[in-house]
Formats: sequence, C-alpha cells, structure tokens
Amino acid sequence: MGSRKVTSSEPLDWQGKHVTVAGLGVSGIPAAKVLHARGANVTVVNDGDDARAREQAAELEALDITVRLGDGATLPEGSELVVTAPGWKPDKPLFAAAREAGLEIWGDVELAWRLRGPDAAPWLAITGTNGKTTTTQMLASILKAAGLRTAAVGNIGVSLLDAVLGDEQYDVLAVELSSYQLHWAPSLRAHSAAVLNLAPDHLDWHGSMEAYAADKGRIYEGNRVACVYNVADKATEDLVREADVEEGCRAVGFTLGTPGPSQLGVVEGILVDRAFVEDRHKNAQELAEISDVHPPAPHNIANALAAAALARAFGVPARAVRDGLRDFTPDAHRIAHVADVDAVAYVDDSKATNTHAAEASLAAYESIVWIAGGLAKGATFDELVTKSAKRLRGVVLIGQDRALIREALARHAPEVPVVDLDRTDTGAMLAAVQEASRLAVAGDTVLLAPACASMDMFANYNKRGDAFAEAVRELGS
Ligand code: ADP
Repeated sequence: MGSRKVTSSEPLDWQGKHVTVAGLGVSGIPAAKVLHARGANVTVVNDGDDARAREQAAELEALDITVRLGDGATLPEGSELVVTAPGWKPDKPLFAAAREAGLEIWGDVELAWRLRGPDAAPWLAITGTNGKTTTTQMLASILKAAGLRTAAVGNIGVSLLDAVLGDEQYDVLAVELSSYQLHWAPSLRAHSAAVLNLAPDHLDWHGSMEAYAADKGRIYEGNRVACVYNVADKATEDLVREADVEEGCRAVGFTLGTPGPSQLGVVEGILVDRAFVEDRHKNAQELAEISDVHPPAPHNIANALAAAALARAFGVPARAVRDGLRDFTPDAHRIAHVADVDAVAYVDDSKATNTHAAEASLAAYESIVWIAGGLAKGATFDELVTKSAKRLRGVVLIGQDRALIREALARHAPEVPVVDLDRTDTGAMLAAVQEASRLAVAGDTVLLAPACASMDMFANYNKRGDAFAEAVRELGS
C-alpha cells in the first residue's frame, strides 16, 4: 500500500456547464434532473428509441432538458463533461470522443460522490464477484444495531444520488458497488472498503481479468481507515497492496480459520477480531457465534466477517456486531431453505448465477442432489465439478447450456448419476424437482444452485427460485 494526499470533492459551478448524460434509465434520468436543477445545460443521449424511451424523453423535455434518442454514439457539440449509466461499455465511440476532447467521464457513483455535501456521511464500501448484497445488508444491520443512522445503498436498489441528496440524515452509509460502477468512479474515497472475492465475471465488458480486477481494486483507493481483504483469495490482498491509501490506513484480512494479528476469523465456532483490539498481537475480541449468522454456510460466515471488519473499522462495539448479525435475514433465493420433504432438505440458491457462487453453495452441504443449468455466459464447469464431485449424490440438468455441465461431469465425476432433462420450458422445474427427489435419500439436500443465468427459461432468478419452491410444495402435498 502506498500513501498519498487525497483531495476531497471539488465543488463545481454547474451554471451553464454543458453536460452529456449517457443513457436514459435508472441512473440517467435522476442525474439529468439533478444537474439541470443546478443550472447545467444537459443533453441526454440514448441508443434506444422505443416507446418507453420516448415517454421518458418527453418527461425530461418538459423540464427543458434536451434528449437525443437513437444515437448514443456521437458526443454532442460543446460537451464539457459526460455522466454515464454504469453499464455502458468503455469501448463505446461516445467515450472515445470524450477522451479525445479531454473530458472527464463520471458514472452514477462518481456523480453522487462529487455532489455530496461537506458534512456528508462517510462510505463503507463493498465489492466482490459474489456476496456483495448480502454483506452490504449485514453491514447496515450491524451499524443499525450500534444505533447509527444508516442505509444499504448503491448497486442494491437504493440510488446513491438519492441517499446523498435526500432529506434523510445519515451517520454512515453501507455502499454496494459493482465493477462497472467502480470503473466510472475515479475520485471515490471510502472511509474503508472490502473486496470479498475475485473470480472471472463480466469479462466481455471489462475486456480482461486484469481490467476487471483493476476496476474492483479502485474501491481501496484513498481509504482512510481499513482495506479489508479475503485471506483465502490472494487476488484481493494483491489489490490492497497496489492501492494508494491515506496515511495510517490498515490492511485487515478476514479468514474462516484462526485469525492472525490484523485479521478477523473463527476460533471454535466464535467469530473473533484480532484487528480492532488493543495489542492485537496478544488479544482477541469475541464478536458473535457462528449460529448468529443466517444461514451459517461457510461463504456467508466469510461475508459476516467482512461486514464485521468494516463495522469495527468504523468503531462499532462487538455487541452490535452480534446483534446486527442476529437481526439479519438474507434476501430471497440466497440459500433459502424451502422445506423438508421425507427428511430431504430443499434449498433455493437461484441467485447462484455463476460458477463461483455455485461452488460456495455446494461447499455448504455434505450430500447433495444438485439442480443446475441455464445460460452459461461463457463459463466453464471443470473446476466447479472437480471441487464439488465428492458431495454429489446426483445431478439434474435443465436449461440451454446444460451440455457444458454434463460434459464436465462426464470428465470429472463419471460415477455421479445425471438426469439430463433436455428441456428449457418453464415447466421443466417441476420435472427437475421430481427427478431430484427420486435421486435423494434421507439426510440429503436438494440444492438449486444453477451456476448459470436464468433468462433462457425464466424472466429472472427470482422467478426461477419461485418455480423451484412451487415445485417443492407440490412434492410435499
Ligand atoms: P451479489 O450481490 O454479489 O450478487 P449476493 O449476496 O446477492 O451477491 O449473493 C449472490 C450469490 O452468491 C448467493 O446466492 C450465493 O450463492 C453466492 N455467494 C454469496 N456470498 C458468497 C461468497 N462470499 N463467496 C462466494 N459465493 C457467495
């Protein structure tokens, strides 16, 4: 970790400034309105020109904001700044033109960061390939248990712009950030931040694993108190090492094993802190029991430790960590126990949409009938199957790219029985659950952890999980 002086946000005079907002939508529309209200001369550009876009455009035009539909590629004449929707790919011609003209390009997070007031609440920021939402919510729950005014915001459904500019007063924010958002947030400086894990994802957007990791690593830039990393994932520690942080900022690891000094970890079923204690070479502070974490799956205990590390970096007492974890229930479709039928547990982890998430999920159970398949998004399954083979009682495959998983199973786990349903219709989930129930024996877990996206068969992962739960209910009736 290097250290350097960090400048805080520069107040900008927006009056008459020509700002191009790239993309109508959840971040573009509020950005355009806020900048317009500050006196900027705003032009919104958008690729699409459908009925919805026209409706949105009309709303903005009524406020005197210029909107150009069907042309998100050309930079409007006279632009002085571009504010983009986070999902816009960096290789778009609009950005090339902006860079050519020497303009800054801000995403939604950068905009919120720059517009926040002088007394704004500090940010505790979280990113990672998997576990972001859960960890951010755990952190907010812990901060609340400590009596702090806080909210879980960012890539989690609550816009940062609203949090930063709204009437509500906060002491601290728990901020989930995606790799896209971090890419477009060059001057963000969090109080403390965590990268939970790093596995290949969204590589088509970032261009390479290195570029993806570098964008995730931006979250550590300028941290003041702690850079929290995953001891089991060296790539996260490397990012801490490469970051420029404020003088005195510490690297703090979390581990499912016994923690060393400056780490949080687990000792005999207890989550302990050896980072934020007096004399960390000799002392440890008990924070919570594993049974306080819901669900107590290994990857979720890792999430709890990361949340605890950030809370402790903010000065939260140990008791609030325990109370906050106890109060927390994860969002739906994340290792949700649906029912027990004939002594077999049925668990919905429909949110396991990539192999890294599915691997964590499969590691949480001893004997599993695994329901998998969907859209692979370019993933390979050899590592996942190799690591999980010994836990598999059987596998039921659904969805478009199921052959990729079937082939990996044939290579690395040829003894495991596989039912290939050869179906991509929505009703296939009922058949999948019935097949799984035939393969399972008492004490097993039937686990929906598809390792794939859902859109070949369902509107989204929620609908996929709902279909699973529905099928389990039918089984039990
Ligand atoms: P994100 O916001 O990063 O998508 P979520 O908290 O919504 O993360 O969890 C998504 C899925 O990732 C979960 O359903 C689970 O399968 C998996 N997961 C959660 N935490 C971890 C972790 N620490 N490591 C690996 N996989 C995880």
